[in-house]
Amino acid sequence: MAGRKIVLVMIDALGWVPARAQCGYLMGLVEAGQARLWRMRSVLPSLSMPAYASLHTGRPPAEHGRVSNDLEAMAPSPHVFSVARAAGLTTAAVAERLYALLFNAAPFDPVEHLEVTDGPGHVTHGRFYTDVRHTRFNPHVPGDHDLCNTASLLIRRHVPDYLLVHSTAIDSVGHAFGADSFEYRHQIWNIDNELALAVPVWRAAGYRVLVTSDHGMSAEGRHGGAEDGMRTVPFWDICGQDGGEQDGGEAGGEQAGEVSQLAVAPTILKLMGLPIPATMREAPLA
Ligand SMILES: [Zn+2]
Repeated sequence: MAGRKIVLVMIDALGWVPARAQCGYLMGLVEAGQARLWRMRSVLPSLSMPAYASLHTGRPPAEHGRVSNDLEAMAPSPHVFSVARAAGLTTAAVAERLYALLFNAAPFDPVEHLEVTDGPGHVTHGRFYTDVRHTRFNPHVPGDHDLCNTASLLIRRHVPDYLLVHSTAIDSVGHAFGADSFEYRHQIWNIDNELALAVPVWRAAGYRVLVTSDHGMSAEGRHGGAEDGMRTVPFWDICGQDGGEQDGGEAGGEQAGEVSQLAVAPTILKLMGLPIPATMREAPLA
């Protein structure tokens, strides 16, 4: 359906295999036909900033240029935020500071850029956070409960047309304990449980909810390379009906049945009824 308001939940470092095994709420929506699920292949390198930029520009890192987490530069337009703003719509984000850097202002000012309300940038309403001084014994902050409720508060106060919700807890826990650990699996269940509480609220407010990840995580607690466990992630479209597991066919990804992460940006724009720029060459999923 065109012209919908969209929430994109971006769960950092949620790999395909553990997602299907631990996300009981989201998989229950698929089983009940209320959500569609694709296996998606991340861009390379399978790192945060490259994938964040690709998820919103629809271009590979080799083209958009954000090929390392250590760059302090904005993503090139057009992207989902800029297209929505050019159409007179409002955008919002509850996200880690790299999103503020990519889409609002660079370099990131840890005081001035932490919160934006009715701002002039691509993100109209922003609530950003950092992972400064995260440790192995305190890795999963900010908590997913607070992130989801902050997103609900932005919807209640501002009714943005596009809202990004970005959780980094699984990534932090995965780096500390590895993907083959109780801690990583439990943290995945934790956000799935928070989404079980939040998604019905967002849907009742008129939003279509998409859920995906930037990259996976290896058993030793790393990502960035081309291993399957680092690259394959889920993409859920909580569409309400005609759901189920989807086959991406031969064309969508590097392996049969998969779709490319570059399809996310044009999918969002199509669902919102917005024009898809020529730089976004992957076919939309919806
Ligand atoms: Zn990471």
